[in-house]
Amino acid sequence: MKVSAPIELVRKAVRMAGFTNNMGRPRPIDLLFALEDADIVKWYAGVGRRWLDFFCCCHNFRMVKTVVSYHLRFSCILTLAHKHESTKLEAIKHYSKDLKVSNVNGYEEVYYPTERDVKMMGDKNLSDPKPVDGAISLALIRLASDEPAHPCVAHFCGRTDTTMYRVRLLQNHMNLNPLDEAQWVKGMGVIHETLNQICLPLCPDHINGLYMGKITLQDIDCTSFVEMD
Ligand SMILES: [Zn+2]
Repeated sequence: MKVSAPIELVRKAVRMAGFTNNMGRPRPIDLLFALEDADIVKWYAGVGRRWLDFFCCCHNFRMVKTVVSYHLRFSCILTLAHKHESTKLEAIKHYSKDLKVSNVNGYEEVYYPTERDVKMMGDKNLSDPKPVDGAISLALIRLASDEPAHPCVAHFCGRTDTTMYRVRLLQNHMNLNPLDEAQWVKGMGVIHETLNQICLPLCPDHINGLYMGKITLQDIDCTSFVEMD
């Protein structure tokens, strides 16, 4: 049996989220400029890794690999370059094409699949497909807050070393109606718009988990969000 990745839908999603311009060339996403550098890389890594997981057993997986390894990677590099008002080459020199970012202890970490990793992924690798959960339409913007620390809102997490994040949804930012098939990509997850702009205190583990697709907003108690203006 041959399973095909819906490459037209993937291309449409890539255009819709603004990874590419009308010519199909990578471009920066301005919604992400407000994020920390590491979070920008994690956002892209989360989307790229989910697609690689989801479409790995399709016979045209190679095309998905190109989208992740070229279009998404360079969109990320351009987003970092524009955020810091530098050139694409300067950004590549700083982060490398593998998009290495330094953590708080100064160690370099790699979240995005490297070009080599993607190349090594064979069409014969089979893993559990994970539903795409709306990650492509979600940005979490770190807020500076001098309020006392709130406990993490992930279920069963009581940590208080949290940072406040504000949810920004692509469909609100770009004025798209997810119910309109011409505007949205059929089958792609949608996060409910009532969550747009809510503020969530999250511990370092759970913000990582959210970005990298280990947990979704469903694993979070969104009713206990914090009111802020
Ligand atoms: Zn937590």
